[in-house]
Amino acid sequence: MPELPEVETVARDLQRWVAGATIVDATVHWDRTIRHPQPSERFAAEIVGATIRRVTRRAKTVLLHLEDGRVMTVALRMTGALIVVEAGAPDDPYARVVFRLSDGRELRYRDVRKFGRIGLWPGGGLRSVGAGRGARSRRVAEGGRRYRIGEVFSGHGPEPLSRGFTVSRLAERLARRSAKLKTLLLDQSFIAGVGNIYADEALWRARLHPLRAADTLDEFDVRRLHRAVRQVLRQGIANRGSSFSDYVGVDGEPGENAERLAVYRRTDQPCYRCGRPIRRIVVGQRSTHFCPHCQREPVASETR
Ligand SMILES: [Zn+2]
Repeated sequence: MPELPEVETVARDLQRWVAGATIVDATVHWDRTIRHPQPSERFAAEIVGATIRRVTRRAKTVLLHLEDGRVMTVALRMTGALIVVEAGAPDDPYARVVFRLSDGRELRYRDVRKFGRIGLWPGGGLRSVGAGRGARSRRVAEGGRRYRIGEVFSGHGPEPLSRGFTVSRLAERLARRSAKLKTLLLDQSFIAGVGNIYADEALWRARLHPLRAADTLDEFDVRRLHRAVRQVLRQGIANRGSSFSDYVGVDGEPGENAERLAVYRRTDQPCYRCGRPIRRIVVGQRSTHFCPHCQREPVASETR
């Protein structure tokens, strides 16, 4: 599943490839891909004529900012991909939505398992992220009424690569929670964009056990975790993301970060730090990889 580095790679590629392009036609092949507005015919009619001004990312969602101020959100979820192809490229049976651009190219939303969602929203409100109305706004959002882009992300936590994500802010947030570190890193309301791969990698780098309770970390632990989260995400972006199955960049090519991971899917292989075998356990139904020697097992008072 694409996490922050993969989605960031897609957004940066799209910025280079389609910023300035105008959408002249849109075809929706799978109605449920469209989250808003509905029905999908309305979405298609409303997006035609729009010019893409800028492409960015928030959490695990690609944001296509349009010249008229509206924003198209693309949540890739499990197997979604945005791919740009030249005019006349062969049809793709997994293309759920196809946007034809004025220069003849196509921007295709490809999704084998069909969990991804696309929305078109009035602009504004993005700054109100994290205003604290999380769960409630999210429910409203799923109800299908018209709302502003900021509310789409009101349930999300801070961006780990943003300037505002400081050691002290992380320390504050951790101190309030007794959840296990692995569970918390996957919680999008705690921190946006981190998924299973980068959570395991960050914990190994920070030498923290996945089952450690968040509020048992001392200031040195927090500092290491803060640095580790940012390092693994930056490394992921630098290598154009980690590909295990469906994730590809806008050019259709897989990323190169998978072979540079330290623990994820390296069960029984030697730890790069101590040489002892990497172990796999299941935490909250997610497979979790760590080094039992480098990432010390929490004592009873640390797990609660
Ligand atoms: Zn080790």
